[in-house]
Amino acid sequence: MGKLIETEADVHALTLRKAIELGFQVAFECCHCRKWGVQDALALIHKYGPEIKLEKLKNDAKCTRCRKQQARVLLKRPYQSRRHAWIPHDPMGRG
Ligand SMILES: [Zn+2]
Repeated sequence: MGKLIETEADVHALTLRKAIELGFQVAFECCHCRKWGVQDALALIHKYGPEIKLEKLKNDAKCTRCRKQQARVLLKRPYQSRRHAWIPHDPMGRG
């Protein structure tokens, strides 16, 4: 077992490859309007390559609703209870 992934810094330090290997789904939450959505992992790899740090994605993500850039990166555990499903926090807005 590796280090627990709990904080935003932990999330940011992961590469896309590692996040996917650990079974996480990657979601972006817009910093402006709070729209969020789970991303297609293969599409992210195709666009950025597997070794990009998740920290880099947050400045490049563009909101499909308000069109602004800058998002939070959230990870969703596929198998945990609802309460602990999201790292570092649940999405605040509606998907
Ligand atoms: Zn937005």
